[in-house]
Amino acid sequence: MEIRELTKEIRDNAIERTKPKDLEYLATSWYQEDLLYSGKGKSIFLILPTPGCSWALGPSGGCTMCSYIHDCYLKPIETDKIIELFQNQLNRHLEEIKEDFDNGEKIAIKLFASGSFFNPEELPIKARDQILKIISNIDEISEVIVESRPEYITNTRINEICEILNGKLFEISIGLETVNEETRLEKINKGFTTETFKKAIDLIKEAKNEYNIKSKAYIFVKPILVSESEAIKEAIDTAYFVEEIGVDRISCCPATIHKGTVIERLWRRGSYQPPWIWSTVKIINTIRENVKIPALMDTSGFGSKRGPYNCKKCNKDLKHKIISSNLTQTQIHHDCACKKEWEAEIKFNNLSQSKTNKKHLPLY
Ligand code: SF4
Ligand SMILES: [Zn+2]
Repeated sequence: MEIRELTKEIRDNAIERTKPKDLEYLATSWYQEDLLYSGKGKSIFLILPTPGCSWALGPSGGCTMCSYIHDCYLKPIETDKIIELFQNQLNRHLEEIKEDFDNGEKIAIKLFASGSFFNPEELPIKARDQILKIISNIDEISEVIVESRPEYITNTRINEICEILNGKLFEISIGLETVNEETRLEKINKGFTTETFKKAIDLIKEAKNEYNIKSKAYIFVKPILVSESEAIKEAIDTAYFVEEIGVDRISCCPATIHKGTVIERLWRRGSYQPPWIWSTVKIINTIRENVKIPALMDTSGFGSKRGPYNCKKCNKDLKHKIISSNLTQTQIHHDCACKKEWEAEIKFNNLSQSKTNKKHLPLY
């Protein structure tokens, strides 16, 4: 079976089993320490209610590791309702950000559309613009971060958004996931080429002449059918590539097993394990040593059954060390008896692999 058929089949089954969501509960937000372009600061993380990622809802079934769609409404949402829910979430933090700002703190807002902020089918233009207008009037917020697939990023949309933001820093995050085209297309089912990603980055670079605009690349650590050592190499190579083409920041996202995904199917059958936390440490230390742009390591799911794992003794310590190193951009140092096991795995896990190119992926 080919990757798209399998992804579509698993996605359709999962969507069928998903209970309808109450719109009021789809928007959510939290406020926490973060690394901003201006240094250590705080960010409001705000999830906007959307019908869901078009790529996941379409005939491709979406990316093999992603389950965002199951937290979406799956039906169109009235523009006024989106704005109302956004405003309610924002209001929860206004007092706190004012106080922090008065104490000299820098503040950003990260808007998550569980898909593409730049796709009008996911976020109607009227809702997008009204949300941005509200933000542009809040002096305390200096940076605005969104996510999008690259094919929706156009000159016109960049201009429209940056005009509204009126000088606030605007960052577009794109999930390149890996520079390895075969992995991205055949194993992640991402559906866009390196060239498409590069074109979007070029548009952002061009817009820098006029606007305060930045780009960020997400790197996915350990897709399916990639060994532990290949996963480390691919993540590091991807960081080198994105820096070379002019991306401003990197965020590494190690795999966790989400419900209703291809990755979950392989994991249940024992053919997939999320990466070791040691691998994520190796990746982020190497990137920080060799790359000049800021690099973050996401620690969601660390130490859990479905996430990156070392051993009970060091999971938590390493998670905390990584979180604090994200703010300082420094190297992570740690030792534990389980490191030897990881070293053995990365040394030997490619030995049994065939060097012949695969025509079909061993999905079953
Ligand atoms: S990773 Fe992004 S593009 Fe892929 S299915 Fe999830 S939201 Fe859509
Ligand atoms: Zn350990």
